[in-house]
Amino acid sequence: MSQDVSSEGDLRNTGMSLKHDREWDYELDRIVEAVEERGATKVGLQFPEGLKRRGPAVADDLRALTDDDVTYMLSGQPCYGACDLDTYLMRRTDVFVHFGHSPMKESDKIIYVPLFSNVDPFPMMEDALDELPEDDVGLVTTAQHMNRFDEMKEWLEDEGYNVHTRKGDDRLTHEGQVLGCNYASADIDADQVLYVGGGKFHPLGLAMEHPDKKVVIADPVNNVVTVADTEKFMKQRYGAVHRAMDAEKWGVIFCTKIGQGRWDMAEEIVNDNDDTYLITMDEVTPDRLRNFDMDAFVNTGCPRITTDDGPQFHKPMLTPGEYRIAVGDEPLDSLSFDTFHGTW
Ligand code: SF4
Repeated sequence: MSQDVSSEGDLRNTGMSLKHDREWDYELDRIVEAVEERGATKVGLQFPEGLKRRGPAVADDLRALTDDDVTYMLSGQPCYGACDLDTYLMRRTDVFVHFGHSPMKESDKIIYVPLFSNVDPFPMMEDALDELPEDDVGLVTTAQHMNRFDEMKEWLEDEGYNVHTRKGDDRLTHEGQVLGCNYASADIDADQVLYVGGGKFHPLGLAMEHPDKKVVIADPVNNVVTVADTEKFMKQRYGAVHRAMDAEKWGVIFCTKIGQGRWDMAEEIVNDNDDTYLITMDEVTPDRLRNFDMDAFVNTGCPRITTDDGPQFHKPMLTPGEYRIAVGDEPLDSLSFDTFHGTW
């Protein structure tokens, strides 16, 4: 959901095939150094979904590099972002390593290993130039390509552009970084934005959040350049809102994952509407909600669950903003992307 390595290069529904083999740098030296420095005997390792299969091999490598009395434990919890730390395992280990995301909140105990992509972004950026006719351009990317962000910016400047970049809010670590739920780094003074990264989920959210901007996607993972088109996506959202308009019983989901809780928002909805029921859960999935006899749900947790997985739920699943439209508090044309700010 966030810019994790599992969503990048996720080719489901794209009809594309992966063009690059990727090698990740697990930064074992940095981990070993922390283990030794802290005299750690218990180390937790958390990988995003797409890389869980590599976990045992990384643990083997670390075992070979550290004392025999160090125990490595793998988190089996689902993980889609730095918002999604396995706090249970973290509390029980001396060093906790979170792979695949940049920090949402720094802590002495956590080592974040971002796993930068090794693909070359410049051929696709070159192809994207035809779609960027104006002098001013915004530049954003995901954590996986952040290691080359300065180079990308210079490259565009050499092509003659005034490049606009900014660091978003607290939820974002780096200048120019976007998350699946936060596009504050694209609040820049340019009508066109170049997004460099894999997949279409992030740029679609970006285009919905900034409907006045043209969002050009240079995807160096799948070797393709496209322009974000939100029409199909918007239709799907309007469809969900319409189907929920007659709902008599609402399930309001509060997500207990450390970086996904919006308690005040959930509480406000429940306080305002007697036909709502607060449901607390960590992983929000269609299976877990199936047994709840509700007419519609509103999800205050990760917005990508609502927008990307929405059609898989047995009843309409709305963002908090969409809920306000469905119950008549806000007009239909106020529909916008649900973004998430701050940390915890
Ligand atoms: S809440 Fe944001 S950072 Fe977390 S998984 Fe969802 S999109 Fe990614």
